[in-house]
Amino acid sequence: LNFSKVEFLRSAARCGDFLRDGRPQFAFAGRSNVGKSSVINRLAGRKNLAYVGASPGKTTQINYFLVDGRAYLVDLPGYGYAKVSKAEKERWGKLMESYFQDKGGLITTGVLIVDIRHKPTENDLIMHYWFRESGCPEIIVANKLDKLKKSQVEPALSLIRDTLELAEGDALVPFSAEKGTGKEELIGLLNAACEE
Ligand code: GDP
Repeated sequence: LNFSKVEFLRSAARCGDFLRDGRPQFAFAGRSNVGKSSVINRLAGRKNLAYVGASPGKTTQINYFLVDGRAYLVDLPGYGYAKVSKAEKERWGKLMESYFQDKGGLITTGVLIVDIRHKPTENDLIMHYWFRESGCPEIIVANKLDKLKKSQVEPALSLIRDTLELAEGDALVPFSAEKGTGKEELIGLLNAACEE
């Protein structure tokens, strides 16, 4: 898969707008401000494909990108932004619920982006649980690696592993959207997931 051949396709706010045509999907999830847009832009080698710093209020849309004509990069709405209204949180929950239902045998890989500096949040755990429940293979991306000193990296990764109860072989990629660290590893894992 050539990630530099990527185009925005459409946004979906309801089930009827979801794309389910059999192409594999990579569903990117993460709390607001974790750097999800930056990770996507870094993968694509583009500055403004996914909009960095997008209004955190826009929590109820799924954005679809087509990668190399062969797979979908699915940008799930960020979560955990404190100022979001209760009604909007409920819309988010409903949208996620319908996204995870009825995947119709699609090979979907979950890409859960967490902040390497922090213990995964309650919402990260919920998202992680949803990916697991739906039978999705999952890749955990620990973003903002550049913000840690070398000596802090291993303990930070251990905390993430323990909190998410990852097994030995589960994919955990230290990443820096800022510097580009981890890009090749992540692309390798996504390619492998696509070929399974
Ligand atoms: P999103 O809300 O998850 O889409 O997050 P954004 O991509 O908009 O990023 C939120 C903020 O974190 C922005 O100010 C980014 O520049 C910053 N950011 C994202 N990734 C990194 C990273 O790897 N390292 C550093 N230092 N900052 C980052």
